[in-house]
Amino acid sequence: MYINGEWIRTDQLFEVKNPATGEMVNTVYFGGKEETGWAIQAAEKAFPQWAAFTAEQRSSYLWRIVDKLREKKEELAQIITKEMGKTIHHARQEVASAIAFFQWYAEEARRIYGDIIPPSAANKRLQAIRQPVGVVGAITPWNFPLSMAARKLGPALATGCTVILKPSKEAPLSSVALFKIFDEIGLPKGVANLVIGSSGPIANTLMNSKIVRKISFTGSTEVGKILIAQSAQTVKRVSMELGGHAPFIVFDDADIDLAVEGLIKSKFGSNGQQCVCPNRIYVQDGIYNEFAEKLKEKVQQIKVGNGLDEQNEMGPLVNEEAIQKVQEQIDDAIHHGACVLNGGKRLSGGSYSNGYFYSPSVLSNVTDNMLISNEETFGPVIPLLIFHNEEEVIKRANDIEFGLASYFYTKDLSRMYRVSEQLDYGMVGVNDAIPFAVQAPFGGVKESGLGREGGKYGLDDYLDTKMISVQI
Ligand code: NAP
Repeated sequence: MYINGEWIRTDQLFEVKNPATGEMVNTVYFGGKEETGWAIQAAEKAFPQWAAFTAEQRSSYLWRIVDKLREKKEELAQIITKEMGKTIHHARQEVASAIAFFQWYAEEARRIYGDIIPPSAANKRLQAIRQPVGVVGAITPWNFPLSMAARKLGPALATGCTVILKPSKEAPLSSVALFKIFDEIGLPKGVANLVIGSSGPIANTLMNSKIVRKISFTGSTEVGKILIAQSAQTVKRVSMELGGHAPFIVFDDADIDLAVEGLIKSKFGSNGQQCVCPNRIYVQDGIYNEFAEKLKEKVQQIKVGNGLDEQNEMGPLVNEEAIQKVQEQIDDAIHHGACVLNGGKRLSGGSYSNGYFYSPSVLSNVTDNMLISNEETFGPVIPLLIFHNEEEVIKRANDIEFGLASYFYTKDLSRMYRVSEQLDYGMVGVNDAIPFAVQAPFGGVKESGLGREGGKYGLDDYLDTKMISVQI
């Protein structure tokens, strides 16, 4: 842990294991309530000076972070693959995205503007200025252990906030590597603090504190709801990047090859463990069989194995629980009439023996009432559902509590606008299975979250707007 510019050790040592091999990757020290309390105090103490720095000064620290991340990019990618299993190719993409977030906010730090507002009396002058919210608690998941931290710390530091980061205990090593960089570039003491350990005591301490003015959380909807409820005690601001269950709609007039290629890219990144993964694949009746055949052929070719091996295209799931959850959804679908076109089972034996490997799976004849159509899937399963017309598919796609990412494929220009506007989701990819960019807003509606990360929008949640009226 890293608190007030010091590396902190406790007597609680925790082993981080590689989900591909079961081997220990490294150990981290666990802290709890006490260490979180120290981190809050350090962040509070550091806040006035950090907030008072000029935008240019804060920006220059962020640029130094960017330079160091670039220098260490391969080392960081290796850490990500070892601690959570995604392939080294996907891990390199994640590092590139983390660098891009810090770079964007290094640039954007200098463009935080307020307003001069026309007054209603001749002897008054009105202005709105934007100020950092203060001490921020950031809680991140294991599936993007570096880029999720970057997407929070970048804007927090740019705006003048100070931070306490709590990464997932499943994958804390990327955060340790990031904080080593903060240490090396001489980030002032207490500006960014890292606390690792059981989530309960750490999160409760952050939530109960009156000093922590904002919580930025990325993780499941279930935990997000607990934090939203806890935030009421101190009326904390919250940003919530929660679960998703993305529809992926392929209309009869779509470019089928493009849709198949996009689906595979989007589905199997992070081994099917992404909040934006296409999870409900609606294919129109006229092309259903052709689409299913082409998809099956491509999925059969996916090479699964240790993510460190350059030739592998998919790695293991994060842990045993993840395997069980995927199997439960597949068994339920089969029980209710789905057919397995590929996979549908755990991979075992040989090099798979000590890891959590699951075969890339395709199910056909999936229907709306199955578990897999209603509960977030976090694994390499593509369920195919058939639909007959536009109105019907929009209704089915929207009929869920989630509203994060959505995708559809068509060549009809007016349908592109019509469907985009009717999908009840925070993000829509039209003939685009990877519609995300550092300069664009990322986030969901309904139970997928509150607020936006990325782009100029990503700064808003870290800023308070203050009105100043001067009588002259
Ligand atoms: P999770 O179980 O909700 O955990 C997320 C973070 O919260 C981890 O740091 C976790 O720590 C901590 N946590 C767990 N229980 C907690 C509690 N009761 N109080 C406070 N903190 C708690 O989610 P996950 O399994 O790590 O990640 C997968 C989920 O994240 C999926 O639902 C996915 O859709 C979502 N996600 C959303 C986005 C987005 O941008 N919308 C991006 C990525 C992932 P420990 O792991 O140490 O317990």
